[in-house]
Order: sequence, then structure tokens, then C-alpha cells
Amino acid sequence: MSLFSPVEMAPRDPILGLNEAFNADPRTEKVNLGVGVYYDENGKVPLLRAVQAAEEARVAEHAARTYLPMEGLAPYDLAVQKLLLGADSALLASGRLVTAQSLGGTGALKLGADFLYRQAGKRLVAISDPSWENHRSLFETAGYEVVTYPYYDPATHGLNLQGMLQGIEALPEGSVVLLHACCHNPTGVDLSADQWKQVIDVVRKCNHVPFLDIAYQGFGDNLEDDALAVRLFAEAGLPCLIASSFSKSFSLYGERVGALTLITETPEEGERVLSQLKRVIRTNYSNPPTHGAKVVAAVLNNAELYTMWVEELAEMRVRIKQMRHALADKLRAAGVQQDVSFIEQQRGMFSYSGLSREQVARLAEESAIYAVGSGRICVAALNHGNIDLVANAMAKVML
Ligand code: PMP
Repeated sequence: MSLFSPVEMAPRDPILGLNEAFNADPRTEKVNLGVGVYYDENGKVPLLRAVQAAEEARVAEHAARTYLPMEGLAPYDLAVQKLLLGADSALLASGRLVTAQSLGGTGALKLGADFLYRQAGKRLVAISDPSWENHRSLFETAGYEVVTYPYYDPATHGLNLQGMLQGIEALPEGSVVLLHACCHNPTGVDLSADQWKQVIDVVRKCNHVPFLDIAYQGFGDNLEDDALAVRLFAEAGLPCLIASSFSKSFSLYGERVGALTLITETPEEGERVLSQLKRVIRTNYSNPPTHGAKVVAAVLNNAELYTMWVEELAEMRVRIKQMRHALADKLRAAGVQQDVSFIEQQRGMFSYSGLSREQVARLAEESAIYAVGSGRICVAALNHGNIDLVANAMAKVML
């Protein structure tokens, strides 16, 4: 018997499985709406102009590749803090913020999960129902019991606020509560300022630990407004963890550019927290990679490139919104009687289309259109070239 003969096959990742099925489909007119990536009008993952300019300057430097500090590149970490909390936030100079560059938003979540497990004795985390599928497995792998709080209301295609508040309140005191700061994945349903304040009140009352996941800042309204939840938690004076990512906003998926930021109570506490966070990093991957962080820092810390990036981010956001309206309009035009205005109201890259598992299966079978079984579709994969095909096929299974 070989060492590895007892190893069982892991369950297939549902989204990767979908990509395989899509690639294997011989039909020429096919659309993959299962992805979690922004595509431009030509169906391509863009290389942003600001990124290209920063990369060209970096290559021209021919810089040596030494190790970064464990917590990453300092100008990157500072730029992350500014984006999250606002350039004029008093917290920036307070010494209470701790930021570590991470391997994408996923890496930030794992760092935070490991840190809270080891240093705060946390064992229970609550995630939204539904949530990004990796939240559950990531926290389970970190040793947590993962439970859910109500979030999405299928009847209204909106938020189940009362359920959410009650669910969070019913958790054992001091639970970790994972919250999507904006552009909720997979539903596209977000909270208003007033709703966030109600959540904050419950979190505070129950001594829970808020862990905010912000992977789509800039895809909702704009960079500032999308950081509202982060800023409200900061203003409320609660200790807080924030996992952020530039994968989407910089279209730098493979560079793994993310960060974990913690809001601590005092500078002295901040120092202790950073020292322990560095141990988590040191024992996992020692220190983060250079290229993506250098590029992002160069853009964020240069006025001209920053302006260029903000414009490009707006282009992506506006295009997605146009596709939302176009899809809803075309569904109506194709005779769909149900109210589809929720598609226009949901935010970020995804829409919870309300399609059932059977309808999703029919879409693939009858029209070569692939979506996640939950009915999640990536609106950012739509363009003028494929939207008629998608709308007509969706209408067919909805009628
Ligand atoms: N959180 C959420 C809600 C996400 O949707 C994603 C990406 N799909 C991530 C975190 C992780 O992002 P990254 O690719 O930067 O690891």
C-alpha cells in the first residue's frame, strides 16, 4: 500500500466544475456566467491602464528583489488604511491600526481567522446565509465551528434585516461575525447606513467580534461610500478586523493583493497585535510577494495614476450597471411577467437571479449558458455581444 493510497478524492469545487463543463461544451454560442471575475465589453479580463503605467515604471527600475517585511510593503499598508478609513481619518496616525499585506482577500481572511483562534480563543464564526462559498471552508479549516445568520429574503430578493439582527443576537456572546462590507457575494444585496447602525448596536451589545470582508470596494457606488460599513464600525469604537482585496478593483487577480487590517484600542495593543500577527505570517509563508503590492502602492500613492485608476474603476462599475438595466429590460421585453427590478438594484458583480437549480440546469442544457446552481450570475460577464442570447434563454426558462 502506498503512502497516499488512503487519500480520497476531494469533492469538486462547484465553480471550477462549472468552468470545466463550460469549456467542454462544443456549442460555439456559449456564455459562462459562473465566474467571479470582471470581463470588459470584449469579454476580456482587463489590464488597467494605471496598472500598466505602474508596471512599466517598475520594470524600468530593474530593482533587486529582496524580501519584504513580514507585514508587507509599508506604503502599500498605509494606502490600504487610507482607502478603508478615509484619507482624513484620525485613526491613520493613531497607532491603533495594524495592517498586514496578504495573499489576496482570501489570505487576509485566513490570517484573521488564525489570529483570532490563537490569540483570542475564538472557535465560533457566523457567516451570512448565503455567503461566498469559501468562507465556510476557510473557517472550518482554521478550526472553527461555522454557523449562519439569516441574510437574504427570497420573497423580496432583498435583505431579511429582522432575521439578521435576531440571528446575530442569538449567537453566543463574543462570537466572530463575518460581514460583507459591500457588494455582497453572492446576492448583491447590501445594507443601508441605518441598517448597519442596527447591526453595530447588536454586535456591540453581544460583545461579538466584527470581521468585515471587503472584496469589491468601488463596485457599488464609489470608493468612499462603499467603505461606509468599515467607517461606521470604526466610528463606533469597536475592535474590528477587515479583510480587503484589490483582486477585482485593480483586475490583479493572480498577483494576490489583499490586506488584513485590525482596529485596536491603543497603540500599545496595536504593537502586541502586530507582533503576534507577524508570527502567524512567519510560520505560514514568511513574507508576502513584492510585485502586486509595488504596483498597487505606486498607483495609490501617485496623484495622476490614482485619478486614472478611479476613472477605470468607475468604467467597470458603470458597465456592470448598464448590463443590469439591459438584462432587466430585455427580460421584460421577452415577456417575463415577474418583477425583475431587483436585478437593477443589486450591487457589485453578482446577481442572485432567483433562478432555481432546475432552471439553471435548463439554461446550460438548452442554451449553453452556465450559471451557479444557486442562481448566482456574474453580471460582469455580460456584454452587448451576449446579452440577447442570455436574456432570451433566461426568459425561456422563466416563462
Ligand atoms: N471575499 C469575497 C466575498 C469574495 O467574493 C472574494 C473573491 N471571490 C474574496 C473574499 C477573495 O478575494 P481574493 O481573490 O482577493 O482572494
